Amino acid sequence: MSLVPIVALGFILARVIQAQVVSRALSDADQSAQLIARIGIQPRLTPHDLRYGLSAAGVRSLDDQLRARSVTQDLARIKIWNTKDQVIYSDDHGLIGRTLAPSDDLLNALAGRPNDAEVVTPSPHTETASEVGLGQLVEVYVPLRFAATGPPAGVFEIYLSYRPIAAALTRNKRMIALLVAIGLALLWSILYRIVARASRRLRQQADLNDRLARYDQLTGLPNRTLFIEGIEDAVAHSKRRPGTFAVLLIDLDRFTEINNTLGTANGDLVLCEIAHRLRSSVQDDALVGRLAGDGYAVLVHGAQGIPDALSAAAAIQASFEPTIVLDDVEVSVEASIGIAVMGEHADAPNALLQRADTALAHARSRHSPIEVYSPELDQFDAPRLTLLSEVRGALGRGEFILEYQPQIELPGGRIIGVEALVRWHHPEHGVLAPPRFIPLIEQTALIGPLTLALIDQALGQLVTWRKLGIDVQMSVNLSARNLIDAELPQQVAEILERHRVAPDRLVVEVTESAAMDDPHRAVAVLAALRDSGIGVSVDDFGTGNASIEYLAKLPASEIKIDRSFITDILDDPRSEAIVRSTIDLARNLGLTVVAEGIETAAVLRHLTALGCDIAQGYYISRPQPPERLTAMLSGSSESRSSLSSTSSATPKLTRV
Ligand code: C2E
Ligand code: CA
Ligand code: CA
Repeated sequence: MSLVPIVALGFILARVIQAQVVSRALSDADQSAQLIARIGIQPRLTPHDLRYGLSAAGVRSLDDQLRARSVTQDLARIKIWNTKDQVIYSDDHGLIGRTLAPSDDLLNALAGRPNDAEVVTPSPHTETASEVGLGQLVEVYVPLRFAATGPPAGVFEIYLSYRPIAAALTRNKRMIALLVAIGLALLWSILYRIVARASRRLRQQADLNDRLARYDQLTGLPNRTLFIEGIEDAVAHSKRRPGTFAVLLIDLDRFTEINNTLGTANGDLVLCEIAHRLRSSVQDDALVGRLAGDGYAVLVHGAQGIPDALSAAAAIQASFEPTIVLDDVEVSVEASIGIAVMGEHADAPNALLQRADTALAHARSRHSPIEVYSPELDQFDAPRLTLLSEVRGALGRGEFILEYQPQIELPGGRIIGVEALVRWHHPEHGVLAPPRFIPLIEQTALIGPLTLALIDQALGQLVTWRKLGIDVQMSVNLSARNLIDAELPQQVAEILERHRVAPDRLVVEVTESAAMDDPHRAVAVLAALRDSGIGVSVDDFGTGNASIEYLAKLPASEIKIDRSFITDILDDPRSEAIVRSTIDLARNLGLTVVAEGIETAAVLRHLTALGCDIAQGYYISRPQPPERLTAMLSGSSESRSSLSSTSSATPKLTRV
């Protein structure tokens, strides 16, 4: 296709050059006519000859001159005119002495304005009848002057043969065609090269983009997309030629802590080092990828299934053993590995990944380095999946109902708040506790609508109590997934407004680990909630791995010490120390301290002595349906005296 314009260009170029050559040839002809006239003939003429005509001797002399051909070789015909339109000489002697009707060209030349040389083909109808039969001629009029100025005394009408010009033109034409062709071929090859180079560069860029989209930029390892393609390939391959492979998912422990304490730049170094160790600890044909954050994956080929996968996992764990030194700090990296084997645990790429993920989750929760998938571990087994499929309907049917557990002020014992805890009133399975369904729903987007519905329910209850003259603070629990929902603060604000409840009546509880899943987004969501006046409580405090610096960055208003420390505070000095220092820390950060899981009077007394602000637990009250709590809440001023005294052995208010 690119040749078409080039050929068209060549055609035009050839035409233009051709025209140039013709005009050049004509101007050459013009000059030789001038030469013939001025040098060859004019010296033999006098003004007298022109006025009165040539003598016979004069005519002869001119004939001789023309015959000599020294100057006049291309001359075909010649006439010499005087100003009275009379031919005073012509090589055609029959014309000499005749007066003829002048042509326009002749008149112009007589006026001193000769035209450019012209190619003519004389026909019998024109006055140049004597030229007829000579073929194409070049016609030139040359004014004849004896003085430098003034009008011409006559005109030479000269006809040169066109044949030499035509021959030269044909020669030139071939030359031009050849040159143009060579030039254009050259041009085309240059253009072709430029275009080829540009398109090669574009292709390279496209390859690079493709590569960037499929490789993790930090470590250079294949990303999730490419890794999944790798599994797909391996599945396709193993179906054609039975062989087995395993998918290993690897998750670093406490990576967030490394990031938070040593900075993200060091965190990146750790991720790269881990990538390097992974690569060098597995066989060359293994596929190593980074799927997300601190999550890696390895596809191991092996004939023996689980045993091969286990030995690969062991080699990976061994490669993590040497500490990584960063800024003189020795960082020890530990990881959990989950394994699923093709054919044994699943046959499809997604199912394999999911099963490996299940095994990994199990490894993490048990703090074990390596777990192989087994159906008992499966979070996605049939009964659970059914439960999950029922959630949406259950939401619509109002099967999620809150119970409330009171929180009392220390010292004093006045009920100042309640924590809303959800129960699923399932038509078949009866009342389900949150650990049965919350972790499931948390894995889906349904946790958003559920949380909002529960906040709505809790605030509705708050309004009911307010109408009875009961004023308490309402704590609700948020999930990790709620914390990455940037719209949550606005949605909560709308619910508050709808119920006309002041933001400071609401507290959201989030666990340390939930806030650390995606610290940046979590902090943004929590800060927005806190800014609007809502309380933020760090739940299960002490169980996560959050660093003090990170905690200080959390926009919290309250810390809730985890139940495990409270339960054995009297028996385990370490628990006691943790509670004591948490209370200190909260004091320093200006936060309220809540102790939950108080099951005995002794524990309550001890916590009061340590300076804890708020208490919650079965000893004070179990979580209850709202109706059963109403009486207790309206009587809370009464119960204050009974719980306030830390010395009283048994408070009057006991478990309901
Ligand atoms: P959590 O936020 O730590 O809630 C406290 C849990 O401890 C509740 O269990 C409560 O019944 C229990 N508890 C309270 N006092 C005592 C005590 O003295 N001794 C003992 N052994 N336990 C006590 P529950 O209601 O089964 O809730 C379990 C978890 O489920 C909650 O832990 C919370 O993480 C989650 N959860 C509950 N309701 C919701 C909710 O509405 N949304 C979300 N996202 N999570 C919820
Ligand atoms: Ca809670
Ligand atoms: Ca808790």
